[in-house]
Amino acid sequence: MANKIAEPSAHDTLGQATVLCPACGTQDQHPRRFQFESGRGLTPWARCASCDTYFMTSSYDSTAETDHSRHMAWGNEDEGAALNQRKRDGFISTLDGIEQLGYGGSKILDVGCSFGGILVEAKKRGFECSGVDIVPEAVAYVQSLGFKGEVCSSLNDCSLFSPQDPVDVISVLDAHIYWPDQPAELRAACRLLRDDGLLVIRAVTKSAFVTAGRFVGSVSPNVSKKLIRRAIADHRFSMPLKSLLKTVETAGFEILNATPKGAQHTNEMPLSARAAYKVGTLLWHGLGVSVSPTTLIFARKKSA
Ligand SMILES: [Zn+2]
Repeated sequence: MANKIAEPSAHDTLGQATVLCPACGTQDQHPRRFQFESGRGLTPWARCASCDTYFMTSSYDSTAETDHSRHMAWGNEDEGAALNQRKRDGFISTLDGIEQLGYGGSKILDVGCSFGGILVEAKKRGFECSGVDIVPEAVAYVQSLGFKGEVCSSLNDCSLFSPQDPVDVISVLDAHIYWPDQPAELRAACRLLRDDGLLVIRAVTKSAFVTAGRFVGSVSPNVSKKLIRRAIADHRFSMPLKSLLKTVETAGFEILNATPKGAQHTNEMPLSARAAYKVGTLLWHGLGVSVSPTTLIFARKKSA
């Protein structure tokens, strides 16, 4: 089912449409606007005055988004299976974290499950696995592995679980940055989880790199372009970690842990990348400054 979220039609006196921040849900009439070159070409962006997120202002169309995913490594079977291998270390450290919090062997739902990456590893550890994705071929693939799967572009459409038949753990790995309405998806996750159920987000936290890219723009346009493009990749928004934690809490969760430790996809990284995660972990836990490219967030559903 196509899920279209049109840009709001309200206009201010200058004729600019108000925009909705997909990351925190705030409507803004006069956001700072930009044109950024990303993995989707040159696209219009804005920055939310409320949560400091950079976001793409083009409207969301789930059919177009599915087609886009098919052209990415995680949206087609050959590359998707290879990617699962490359990201295995990340799946393992995520599952370690889930088990350490006491959710071992429980029912897990992976959002944006692609070709089953974390589900395959979770099954080996005795978890009961299911997944949702917007790409039908990916869902058919995880079903062929014996997992429950459903094609959904929003958790609001997920029928695998319900408040009467809730899930224990929901994982969202590198997928939240594609949501057109993150607060709505987090509230839906909260509804599908059991009381004290666990939400795990591997968040992409590179907004500081977008800001850095903007600032070097006047002296070095090429470095600027590269920094911004690498930070955004093909994502729809880039949100600072502290704003994300606040948004997760507002949706009904208590943050148990947020750390760059274990948030990398693979342990086989160049020294510079390994150092970035080490420094990122020290800075975040020591000074509350987030510079790590990705962060693992564990949050527990607050009881009603
Ligand atoms: Zn915002």
